Amino acid sequence: MSAKSLQELFVEELRDAYDGEKRLTKALPRMAKAAESDELRSAFTNHLRETERQIQRLEQVFRTIGEPVRGKKCDGLMGIIEEGKSAMEELDEGPVLDAALIAGAQRAEHYEIAAYGTLAYFAEMLGNDKAKNLLGQTLDEEKAADEKLSVIAKSKVNREALMGAGMEGEEADEETPRSGRGSSRGNGASRGMAHDRSRGGVRGNAGGRRRSR
Ligand code: FE
Ligand code: ZN
Ligand code: FE
Repeated sequence: MSAKSLQELFVEELRDAYDGEKRLTKALPRMAKAAESDELRSAFTNHLRETERQIQRLEQVFRTIGEPVRGKKCDGLMGIIEEGKSAMEELDEGPVLDAALIAGAQRAEHYEIAAYGTLAYFAEMLGNDKAKNLLGQTLDEEKAADEKLSVIAKSKVNREALMGAGMEGEEADEETPRSGRGSSRGNGASRGMAHDRSRGGVRGNAGGRRRSR
């Protein structure tokens, strides 16, 4: 990154966001296809349409500063999308894969929330109200998309992942998860990942929730 001013950093970050959104327009249809839950599939399809509008908004932002519309490889989203691909390759279609898709999609949304929060604030600092509003709209959409995924995870997908086949491993969580105490656990989406064949052993929110073993 060669930015020497906030204005230049703003442009760099815009290019990163632009590339990330482009990648997501390719990933979301694959995720929709892999999803078993109708709700989840339509959430991905709706967010694909939103993502297309977000790309147009970024193009408008580039115009407000007279910069060419250009992307620059977003390593962050590329990595998150790669992880999602692995899940789709390794898991059979069903509630556990759905839970994994949500876990991955929420990582992407959080990444975007951070990016657009920063971008909107940079636009404000730079006195570019038009850009600030456009980026703020996208920020709100990303937050809503994240919320929607949490609702789907909590209302249905994670419970089905828990009840379904797939708890055969010794990794199965013995804690009684049907006791309705899911609300203290962030989005709850990584719940279904409990028996995921995690490479590297990093496992979402597993930390500190199994003290009685
Ligand atoms: Fe987006
Ligand atoms: Zn990035
Ligand atoms: Fe998004």
